[in-house]
Amino acid sequence: MAENVFEIDGAIMEGGGQILRVSTALSCLLGAKIKIHNIRAGRSTPGLRPQHLSGLEMVCDLCDGHLEGANVGSTEISFSPGKIKGGNHVADTKTAGSVCLLMQVSTPCVLFAASPSELVLRGGTNAEMAPQIDYTLHVFKPIIEKFGFQFNCDLKMRGYYPKGGGEVRVNMSPIKQLTPINMTERGTITKIHGRAFVAGVLPFKLANEMAAAAVRCIRKEMRDIYVNIQSVQEPKNKAFGNGNGIIVFAETSTGCIFAGSALGKRGVAADRVGIEAAEMLMKNLRHGGCVDQYLQDQVIIFMALANGVSRVRSGPLTLHTQTAMHFAEMLTKAKFTVKKTDNQESGLESYIIECEGIGMTNPNL
Ligand code: ATP
Repeated sequence: MAENVFEIDGAIMEGGGQILRVSTALSCLLGAKIKIHNIRAGRSTPGLRPQHLSGLEMVCDLCDGHLEGANVGSTEISFSPGKIKGGNHVADTKTAGSVCLLMQVSTPCVLFAASPSELVLRGGTNAEMAPQIDYTLHVFKPIIEKFGFQFNCDLKMRGYYPKGGGEVRVNMSPIKQLTPINMTERGTITKIHGRAFVAGVLPFKLANEMAAAAVRCIRKEMRDIYVNIQSVQEPKNKAFGNGNGIIVFAETSTGCIFAGSALGKRGVAADRVGIEAAEMLMKNLRHGGCVDQYLQDQVIIFMALANGVSRVRSGPLTLHTQTAMHFAEMLTKAKFTVKKTDNQESGLESYIIECEGIGMTNPNL
């Protein structure tokens, strides 16, 4: 009898690396074989980049699976998962490929392992087009812990473009099932805080300039809220290479956390970097949602796996979120619905993303 293999077209919708991460993690969890073609066809350098390859290899390793065709540049791979085990697993992008995206693909898998896991993830901690590690620690982690588990994430070393060299250690114990979440009440903003950093040879004044510009920008719109953005010189034994950037967080009375962030680039003035991060945060506070434009797509896989109905209020759905929903539905058969229901109190535009999760159960516990 022919074996059931899910054919994944990596070119559709967002057409990027997230399709690989969502599909591979779900393949590993569900024990379903997948074949992905047109990998990252929507990107200017299609095919696997080091971050995607090391993420795939790590998932393969942690379930004793079988991976075919996976090299840097591959546009087609096949993956047959085995049984998810605990223990130590290392992924090293050897570039500034994001450790946070390595976490994105591996953490859902090890939650359903036979025993506790330690993941050693090496690469960039503050990289473009990915969560900064500060985002993962202060937004992603506390919110996904609402699905009923806790884990440790120890930032050993920061690393930046182009060399990477950062390291994060994640310690996670397996769980039986994920509990669904209900994040539909935004509450009021209680706190805005952040961190502007420089590392390596870059002058400390860049951190002050980023922070000051971000504070000015936020205060224009939010006069009554205390804003505290720290300027930080990363200690030499905690950061590899040169980098600068900023992240600003807003917390609410109901436990929602939003962020805006930006990294310094050659030829871009530090105050522009601060303003970019502040504007991103402000944009994410102008809708009535409970998650920002990035967390939206990052919670989808957990909603699909949880045991029951999760509801998350969001702003307009990003293509990343729609893509994650599409592949989560295809592989798990969980059903997502999205309803426009503007926030009555504030009158701000919002949507409820609802999903009846499949109640994925850890067979080992
Ligand atoms: P590609 O190069 O193909 O785009 P990728 O693997 O680098 O692949 P995406 O598929 O675009 O990346 O996925 C990026 C992920 O990073 C998404 O989950 C997105 O929400 C998250 N992300 C991007 N920028 C930020 C940010 N500034 N803050 C938080 N999360 C972010």
